[in-house]
Amino acid sequence: VPPAEKYEYQAEVSRLMDLIVNSLYSNKDVFLRELISNASDALDKLRFLSVTEPDLLKDAFDLDIRIQTDKDNGIITITDTGIGMTRQELLDCLGTIAQSGTAKFLKAMKESKDAGAESNLIGQFGVGFYSAFLVSERVEVSTKSPKSDKQYVWESEANSSSYTIREETDPSKLIPRGTRLTLYLKRDDKGFAHPERIQKLVQNYSLFVSFPIYTWQEKGYTKEVEVDEDPAEAKKDDQDEKTEKKKKTKTVVEKYWDWELTNETQPIWLRNPKEVSTEEYNEFYKKTFNEYLEPLASSHFTTEGEVEFRSVLYVPSIAPTGKDDIINPKTKNIRLYVKRVFISDDFDGELFPRYLSFIKGVVDSNDLPLNVSREILQESRIVRIMRKRLVRKAFDMILGITMSENRDDYARFWENFGKHLKLGCIEDRENHKRIAPLLRFFSSQSEEDTISLDEYVENMKPDQKDIYYIASDSVTSAKNAPFLEKLVEKDVEVLFLVDPIDEVAIQNLKSYKEKNFVDISKEDLDLGDKNEEKDKEIKQEFGQTCEWIKKRLG
Ligand code: ADP
Ligand code: MG
Repeated sequence: VPPAEKYEYQAEVSRLMDLIVNSLYSNKDVFLRELISNASDALDKLRFLSVTEPDLLKDAFDLDIRIQTDKDNGIITITDTGIGMTRQELLDCLGTIAQSGTAKFLKAMKESKDAGAESNLIGQFGVGFYSAFLVSERVEVSTKSPKSDKQYVWESEANSSSYTIREETDPSKLIPRGTRLTLYLKRDDKGFAHPERIQKLVQNYSLFVSFPIYTWQEKGYTKEVEVDEDPAEAKKDDQDEKTEKKKKTKTVVEKYWDWELTNETQPIWLRNPKEVSTEEYNEFYKKTFNEYLEPLASSHFTTEGEVEFRSVLYVPSIAPTGKDDIINPKTKNIRLYVKRVFISDDFDGELFPRYLSFIKGVVDSNDLPLNVSREILQESRIVRIMRKRLVRKAFDMILGITMSENRDDYARFWENFGKHLKLGCIEDRENHKRIAPLLRFFSSQSEEDTISLDEYVENMKPDQKDIYYIASDSVTSAKNAPFLEKLVEKDVEVLFLVDPIDEVAIQNLKSYKEKNFVDISKEDLDLGDKNEEKDKEIKQEFGQTCEWIKKRLG
């Protein structure tokens, strides 16, 4: 066997590694996501090629990812049965920067003169394989490509400018195909080698990767074992138990280790909506968002055409406690995936306007880069289109609640999120048409239950042109307003705007179904009952008197 050969990294790689380690130290978690996504890519490539070359699968049919931890020694191994790498590919892929994500990153880095911008930049691009060095002092990549009959080991230390490649000679380490990464963790990062920690990271970042991810977990089962009686006890009981010799048993826990499937290979949003039950949607919701209450509504859809994405959205059944949720759009309510890899839930109005930030859900797109950042999101045309569609779907979903068999559902929605929609009247002119039918108000003819604007319009008098309202601080005081009397007499309904935000919201809407909102407490209220004949008569009768009064009183 030829000895290990030593190679120098391309200068840019060393630079990149320094940058990664120095700027992502507070976000080390990402290493696992990156390595799992590489494993998943390698499996994808193999699956794709095997369609035309089924022989590629011959030694190992299972396409999966296995992660094993050795917490005593601080070692993590990540094994996939994917496409693997030849010796040359090891040189090309892990020694130089040829790959798209990282190449773009370096280009942007060169163009940026401002050194401080580097740590900003790094969040935008794929940090990829080298993120292994965020937590490892040494990384070993043992890999076998179906194109080669030999298995090779690539090895490097953190902060090193070189790496080695040698043939794998340890028979216990031979794999039929694919790649095994061994991470020897830095002293301070050995905590990552705990099975529970890995499990959590997988579930948080890679729950919906489309290949099974198994983690090596300690399990236990209970069993009954016979035990010898304590001799002292036995003596004491001797007299009464002369005849029946009872055997004592005790429950013990047997521990063992085994592979445990840690992700969900078929994420709910990839399934056919017709085949998913409400219970399953609700379960997914509760698990994903740590909720214990069922959602009020859900919506599962796929959009095609200009931008393709799949999504499941939910309306929670209760608004979060805490008064500032309505102003704070950073609710972590929308989880964005790109090709089933979790990217972020840290949004600030990019996917939903802040007044809809109570909507929860997952969005999965194939059209965004895997390492999409906040900056990219804000400027992306794709994201703008996604946002438009998401908002529409959210409104459809809310409208669906108004049609629910259970009338309490919408009452509940309105109680929790009515304020949000009113804020929408102020902040989102473009969607007035969608928001207005969802609004609810008390009125002079409905003091107990709120009514919709449609119900109001239905109930308008034949000659009534406008929608009347009065703003007040409670239903009681609205009821007693002096302006109201005249309209009540005529049996004309008046909306009671009793929430401070109501009036501003209504003023922003201006009209509904071409009927203007009119404040009855304003002067010149035209009730549409002006009679010109009568006006003339009155003018004739009192005209002179009026003139006289005007003159006398100035
Ligand atoms: P990217 O994934 O954006 O291409 P990475 O730095 O993550 O960049 O990986 C660099 C390259 O190394 C990959 O493109 C791939 O060719 C190769 N590679 C990394 N991990 C694996 C793996 N588990 N199996 C096969 N090839 C891999
Ligand atoms: Mg990668």
